[in-house]
Amino acid sequence: MIAALVVAAWAATASAQTADSVLVNGKIVTVDAKESVVEALAVRDGRIVATGASAAIRKLAGPSTRTIDLQGRTVVPGLIDSHLHAIRAALSFSTEVNWIGAKSIEEALGRIRKAAQTKPPGSWLIVAGGWNEQQFAEKRRPTQAELEAAAPDNPVYVQLGYGWAVLTDDGLRALKIAVDADIPNGGRLERDASGKPTGAVTGPQAAIIALFDRLPRPTYTQQVEGTRAFFREMNRLGLTGAMDPGGNNLTPADYAAVQDVWRRGEMTVRIAYSLNGQTSGHELDDYKSLLALVPMGFGDGMLRFVGLGERLTEAMNNNPRPSDADKEKYFEIARWAAQRGYGLTMHWGADATVDHLLTIFERVNRETPIAPLRWSIAHLNDASPKTLERMKALGVGWTVQDAMYFGGEGFVKGAGPDAARRVPPVVSADRIGVHVGGGTDAHRVASYNPFTSLQWFLDGKTVSGLAMRGPEETPTRQQALRFYTKGSAWFSHDDATRGSLEVGKLADLAVLSKDYLTVPVGEIGDIESVLTMLGGKIVYAAGAFTSLDSPRR
Ligand SMILES: [Zn+2]
Repeated sequence: MIAALVVAAWAATASAQTADSVLVNGKIVTVDAKESVVEALAVRDGRIVATGASAAIRKLAGPSTRTIDLQGRTVVPGLIDSHLHAIRAALSFSTEVNWIGAKSIEEALGRIRKAAQTKPPGSWLIVAGGWNEQQFAEKRRPTQAELEAAAPDNPVYVQLGYGWAVLTDDGLRALKIAVDADIPNGGRLERDASGKPTGAVTGPQAAIIALFDRLPRPTYTQQVEGTRAFFREMNRLGLTGAMDPGGNNLTPADYAAVQDVWRRGEMTVRIAYSLNGQTSGHELDDYKSLLALVPMGFGDGMLRFVGLGERLTEAMNNNPRPSDADKEKYFEIARWAAQRGYGLTMHWGADATVDHLLTIFERVNRETPIAPLRWSIAHLNDASPKTLERMKALGVGWTVQDAMYFGGEGFVKGAGPDAARRVPPVVSADRIGVHVGGGTDAHRVASYNPFTSLQWFLDGKTVSGLAMRGPEETPTRQQALRFYTKGSAWFSHDDATRGSLEVGKLADLAVLSKDYLTVPVGEIGDIESVLTMLGGKIVYAAGAFTSLDSPRR
């Protein structure tokens, strides 16, 4: 018996010695517990089988092994956004106009002009978010007249966060909006100082969500195309995974496109998704019905169900003063989720009111321990030490987004520069042992670019350059990278299989255009991937590696 075991072990070692791919001559940031940097690694059957010096790794190459000479480039584990509305962003990625990263109104309008040239007259041009006026040199929003000049023959809709959207005259006419009463859920026409409508609609989040729902939706074919294209765009930025927290304007039927891409084996990003409550006031019934055949963890390594969130009930969504009845209903859902072993991620804004949520979690925890379920809170940028301690005690993690990159000026104005110095307190959270995941909350309220977020983690600067965070809550480069890899993987119970480049883990990695560890911090936001690997397969390649790219179509 012992002999047989020895032979089996020897055979396993021997077969592992011929790699499918070896990556040599690099600077591989492994994100292991020692923050090791190695020169080379070998991949077999989608997993890392060895790491170390180039000479030793080269010995694992056989005649059919692909050898990739990194020529000194930096490699990181594939990045994972722990709070990205990827499924929703993907649906419209092939049909929307994207203002992410545009540095001036002129550049943004140029993208509208370009889209107007390629789309038939009369078809909508939609910017659904992901930008902020602070990113523009002009420090203002576009006007209706500018949009009409850029696209005279197309209706245009440009949304900013969830509070404002500007439409061209054609657009307002197409949506039959002439007076305030035509706008749903309390939205209003914005007026200038002289009382003249500006073409913009303002209002509560519900008004903007309902307004967006009136826009024509991409066709199913466009949704599938958009999904493939968005995942490739993520690969271009070194992303190989995302946690999708549901979101506004997203119904169960909207998951068909990503399911289609998954069924065809065309996923290039690993998506772990959660499900929002659906019908206001009847969320528990909806959950019971929609999830009757969906146990926790259902799916596979490419598309997997990981629980409830980020909105469980309408009543507790962005509501700083929930009633006892609201909280009781929420508790019933959370208890049901815990009993069924479901994950749960919850959107919460301010620390001042998070006691409502934590008290419910603590009550559930007395019946069913929730630590093994890896529940989480998203946002909560001003989490207090006391809140972090309560989260730690419950084993609740924290998904942190770069909301202050766009919203920092507003925060400083409201809470003052002193309070802003510790926002968000990721170093404190990490020190006391609260699990932290990196991310963005894209694509309505933020850009999905992980390097924008990593740079912001390190310099604490808003898009317009205001430095607000102090050194006490500024992580090291390795620490920020850990949040965005292993840290994010924890929330979907994947930290044992991905998120670091160690033997036995999935070969999800990105070769970077610049050295993340040494480039000036202000240049981190410009980094892209030049080679992205998912489970050992190349899903994106550019620059010197272009010949290795294998786009599916
Ligand atoms: Zn949220």
